[in-house]
Amino acid sequence: MNAPVTIKRLGADAAHFVGKEKKLYIAGAWVPAAGGKTFDVIDPATGMVFDRVPEGTAADIDLAVAAARQAFEDGPWATMTPSERGKLVWRLGDLVEKHADELAELEALDNGKPVTDARHGDVAFSYELLRYMAGWSTKICGETIPLSSSSAPYHAYTLREPVGVCGQIVPWNFSLMMAVWKVAPALAVGCTIVLKPAEQTPLTALRLAELVEEAGFPAGVFNVVTGYGETAGAALAAHPDVDKIAFTGSTEVGKKILDAAKGNLKKVSLELGGKSPMIVFADADPAVTIPAVAYGIFYNMGQTCTAGTRLYVHKDIAPVILDGLKAFAAKMNVGVGLDPTTQIGPLVSLEQFERVTNYVAAGIAEGATLFHGGNRVGDKGYFLEPTILTDTTSDMSVVREEIFGPVLVVATFEDEGIDAVVREANNSIYGLAASVFTRDVSRAHKVAKKLKAGTIGVNTHHVIDPALPFGGFNQSGWGREQGYEAILLYTEVKSVGIAL
Ligand code: NAD
Repeated sequence: MNAPVTIKRLGADAAHFVGKEKKLYIAGAWVPAAGGKTFDVIDPATGMVFDRVPEGTAADIDLAVAAARQAFEDGPWATMTPSERGKLVWRLGDLVEKHADELAELEALDNGKPVTDARHGDVAFSYELLRYMAGWSTKICGETIPLSSSSAPYHAYTLREPVGVCGQIVPWNFSLMMAVWKVAPALAVGCTIVLKPAEQTPLTALRLAELVEEAGFPAGVFNVVTGYGETAGAALAAHPDVDKIAFTGSTEVGKKILDAAKGNLKKVSLELGGKSPMIVFADADPAVTIPAVAYGIFYNMGQTCTAGTRLYVHKDIAPVILDGLKAFAAKMNVGVGLDPTTQIGPLVSLEQFERVTNYVAAGIAEGATLFHGGNRVGDKGYFLEPTILTDTTSDMSVVREEIFGPVLVVATFEDEGIDAVVREANNSIYGLAASVFTRDVSRAHKVAKKLKAGTIGVNTHHVIDPALPFGGFNQSGWGREQGYEAILLYTEVKSVGIAL
């Protein structure tokens, strides 16, 4: 274990930001919460409070939505050329890259995640996505469409327009990156935004707002309200002057968002939970499969919506794969996120630590075998060993429910055919991601076609890229982010017919 005093590991820029008084960013100004309250920000490596941020409530959401409405309808944003808009989004990408080390340190401190992953994962993806979406700004267009049943002379076409004021609510597991997944396409198409980051990890959203200001976006285009989900989040989801709500978080809260959104029937997109399967056939290459499966489950301490939590491994190769996974897990460096050598940081909060360890205990009580890990590491913070449960069956809670921690649940299968194991893999209320490990190309394609999930990996697990649509089947969500699909998510189509 590394030293628990994580704050001392911050670079000068991140330390300066942590030392600043935090305010909400509304209408291009930094303001305290209307109610004057703040809440604690906790370092998950120590359990200690290291910062405080404003506790925004419905009153602040009202102000932020009004600012976003004004900017959408009347401000310079409304008349800006697509080229100018794209340049601003690109500039924001440049600023995120310029401050990448600082942002990575803030994320590592706030969330606990390994700083190396934050720098090369979360932050790098964020600036790449901003640049990818900046390119779309100048390429959004409708179509001319010949009418199908009118003999009268008509010229008909469609316009693709920004959907309007967007509420965006994001979770704590990839705080900056989840925000940018929503912010980048919305800005690229000309929407305005009220962002509500997770209460556990509010820092990078506030730093992003500073960079938005530095990039030169007009006032009101981007607003950030920190606060709790039940108050600030719920007010944003229900707000009658919000045109679209984009949510990433748990399936349970996603359903609440839907309820809240129905008052004005605002557009809704949802990126929700997962329980993603990984299938390893007997012909898989262990040298490829073992690190890919380990990364599939243990990346970000398993607090990843696409985490490959269920492993189905053919019985002939199971001993090799399981021994390899155990050796891999045993060598992973558990430590504070700000140590560049750390591979497994703490879980994000005490609540999350208790949730995950309760699942491990429940799995064992229901008959699973603790094959590796399961123990707390150290006596401060929320560190848990990478954990592997074997002999699991489909009725166990650890197989059915999202654990959201570094816990792999393993079952073996005997049939070389694909049907039985794919049926088992698809036996979930979720459908976010899945992967298959085999050297047989034909089998890989057949399995990829049959799996019910939004993203499929072949001989790899986490497949994400700014250009690739991302989202879920089943109760993993509605809509697709990334790629051109994200442009569709933030635009409305209007048909125009001209009688000639
Ligand atoms: P959560 O649902 O508890 O919270 C997510 C966000 O919603 C937070 O900002 C929270 O403040 C807010 N919120 C909570 N209650 C609310 C309410 N009643 N009204 C409005 N907003 C409310 O989720 P979490 O624990 O922060 O994140 C973990 C979950 O997110 C997991 O289920 C994970 O799978 C999911 N996730 C999904 C994706 C994806 O793309 N599909 C990506 C990352 C995380």
